[in-house]
Amino acid sequence: MVHAWGDETPFYTYHQYLNNTFGHQIRKIPVDAGFTCPNRDGTCGRDGCTFCLNEAFAPRYCDSQKRVSQQVADGVAFHAHRRRNMGAILVYFQSYSNTYAPLEMLKRRYEEALAVPEVQGLVIATRPDCLSEETLDYLSALQKHSYICVEIGIESLHDKTLRRVNRGHDAACTLHALSALAQREIPTCGHLIFGLPGETPEMWMQDIAILNHVSLSTLKLHQLQILQGTPIAQEYAIQPEDFHSFTAESYMEFLADYLERLSPDIAIERLANEVPPRYLNTNTWHGLRHQDIVQGVCVRLQKRQSWQGIKKAEVSTPPPFVS
Ligand code: SF4
Repeated sequence: MVHAWGDETPFYTYHQYLNNTFGHQIRKIPVDAGFTCPNRDGTCGRDGCTFCLNEAFAPRYCDSQKRVSQQVADGVAFHAHRRRNMGAILVYFQSYSNTYAPLEMLKRRYEEALAVPEVQGLVIATRPDCLSEETLDYLSALQKHSYICVEIGIESLHDKTLRRVNRGHDAACTLHALSALAQREIPTCGHLIFGLPGETPEMWMQDIAILNHVSLSTLKLHQLQILQGTPIAQEYAIQPEDFHSFTAESYMEFLADYLERLSPDIAIERLANEVPPRYLNTNTWHGLRHQDIVQGVCVRLQKRQSWQGIKKAEVSTPPPFVS
C-alpha cells in the first residue's frame, strides 16, 4: 500500500521528505560555525542543559577554527572517501545555537555556505529563545531563494522538566518560536528527548496533541542517552528511579504506538539517538544501531497492519494553551 507521503514505508521517512521536497536525495554536511549558546555564556546560564555534551555529536571534520566553506569541503571529502555519493548538499549548522549571534555575523556564515555551488539549502539548529524578529524576517527572505529549515530543540514540553534539566526557557517560549516560524512558512524540525527525569511515556503520548498542531515539517525523536561527565549522569546515579529507561524492545513498541498517533504530515528524521559508545554512561542496547531501530519499528507497524497517523483522531484536540 502506498501511503499519503508517497511510498510503502509505514511512516513518513526523511528520505521520502527529501524526495517530495527536492525531487532527489540530498546529503547533510554538519559544520561548527563557532557560535555558543545563552545557556553556556552566562546570558541565561553557564552550566548548560544537564544532558548536553556537544562533542559527542559533531563529526571530526567539524572545527570552528576553519571557515564554514572549508568544513563543507572537508565533509564532502570525508563522505567521498567512503564512496558515498555526493551531489546536492544541505549545510547543517549543528553545534550549539546557530541563530545566537548578531545578524550580520549570521548572514556572513549562512551566505558563505550558500555560495558553495552544490549547496541547495541550510538546516539551522537552535534554541527557541534565540530567534529575534529580525532574524526570523531575514530567514524568511533567505528561503525565497534556498531551502531553509530551522531545527528547534524542544526536548520537553513540560516546564517542570525544563527547569530540572536547566534548559533556561519554558514551553511557552518553544510554542511561540514554532508559531513565529509557521507564520513565515519556514520549514521547521522539532528535536525531542524521551526519558528526561520525571517524565513518563503517558506524558509523551499526550504531547502528540500539541506536536500535531504546530506545523512541524520533520521530527527527530531520541531516547535519552546519559553521557559521561554530564550533570544528568550524576543525577541518574543518585535517583535512577526518576528516569524512565527503555529496553530496545519497549522503545520500538513505544515508537510504533507514538507514530500511529502522530500526524502523517510530519516526516521522521530520526527515531533514536546514536553517539559513539565511548561517551555512554549507561545501557548501549548491545550495539543496536539507528537502522536496526527503524527496521524494528517498521516490522511492528507492518505486523499491526498499521501506519503513521492511523490513530491521529484519538489525539486531535490540543490543550487550551496552544493558540
Ligand atoms: S543542549 Fe543546546 S542549549 Fe543546551 S547547553 Fe547544549 S548547546 Fe546549549
